[in-house]
Amino acid sequence: MSVFESNHQSKLQADLQQNLALRRSQGLYRQRQIVEGRQSVRVKVDGESLLSFCSNDYLGLASDDRLIKAWQQGAEKFGVGAGASHLITGHHQAHHELELALAEFMGTDRALLFSTGYMANMAIAASLLGRHDSIFEDKLNHASLLDGARLAPARLHRYPHNDTKKLALALADNPDQKKLIMTDGVFSMDGDQADVRTLTSLAAKASAYLLVDDAHGIGVLGERGRGSLAASGLKINANTLVMATLGKAFGVFGAFVAGSETMIETLIQFGRSYIYTTALPPAIATTLLASLKIVRAEQWRRDKLKDHIAQFRQGAEQLGLALGPSETPIQPLVFGSATSAVVASQKLRQAGLLVTAIRPPTVPEGSARLRITFSANHEPQDIDQLLTALESVCKP
Ligand SMILES: *Cc1c(COP(=O)(O)O)cnc(C)c1O
Repeated sequence: MSVFESNHQSKLQADLQQNLALRRSQGLYRQRQIVEGRQSVRVKVDGESLLSFCSNDYLGLASDDRLIKAWQQGAEKFGVGAGASHLITGHHQAHHELELALAEFMGTDRALLFSTGYMANMAIAASLLGRHDSIFEDKLNHASLLDGARLAPARLHRYPHNDTKKLALALADNPDQKKLIMTDGVFSMDGDQADVRTLTSLAAKASAYLLVDDAHGIGVLGERGRGSLAASGLKINANTLVMATLGKAFGVFGAFVAGSETMIETLIQFGRSYIYTTALPPAIATTLLASLKIVRAEQWRRDKLKDHIAQFRQGAEQLGLALGPSETPIQPLVFGSATSAVVASQKLRQAGLLVTAIRPPTVPEGSARLRITFSANHEPQDIDQLLTALESVCKP
């Protein structure tokens, strides 16, 4: 149904309708579900109450009462809008304090706030590299890292997933002036981890910059939740940037990049998705300061997640389900065809569980899956309930 009756039949519209019909026939059509009430492991979707295994709210902070209070107090103090971009008059005291706290947390000179992780990834390659330079990306990197490379004038090389040998060859092969390696720390659809130790030494050997996108590692991995590098006993060096979102384990919204004084100043001067956009509301920055305190202090949330992961993997193994090499709260079950993943998701829903099917182009062709994620707000009986449902859904 369209209110634009007179234009509805035009050629311009018909072209688009044809594309939509094709998507639908491929079983790849995406639809949004309407969530009512607070984000939680129990959500009401389209009037139905479901046990959810698909949020990225790993530490269970998205509806934390302390953060709701911090948001309210922040709004009282600073208003609801930043009013301008960071470089005009939108950079408030709360942003400044949060950046200092994040830099201290990550052990870097500086941290720079962005409105989203997607926007942060749009700024990095284009700010660091020029025409004669090269970017090296893991084949399974997040879409935002690939899109970020498109905005840079440099050449893009993609290496097979986690194949550091192929990457080493490609780096050695390359006479370009400057190089940037970009990788997910934790791969968003598989839950496995990049070998950041080898990547760091390869980058040093090839005089390359390294960007680790730790959207799914921050808050979850490493001492006090410092992320993938900390989990491998590494410090962030001068030629490394870590990008992390604040909308996943931190439970709120926003993102930051941590790095050296020079790298961060480069992003402030040249990062178009930093410069030409309204600053994050300062009340969100105050909320994030409160969230950072909780992330650091409440180790029990990470411990509980570890228990859930172990319980799930053990149970799934007993059921004979094919698990990937993931030690993180992202535990995919690969079905292959988009239709079979969607059918499995629908059957789980009939059993009261919300687990979304992830289909191409988000994942490679033929690897449609259920992407199961855990939260510190789940309880052991929730994991049991999931396993019981999977048993009946996945039975041949
Ligand atoms: C979610 C995600 C992003 C984007 O972060 P937002 O803050 O949600 O825009 C970037 N990289 C990876 C790997 C992600 O999973």
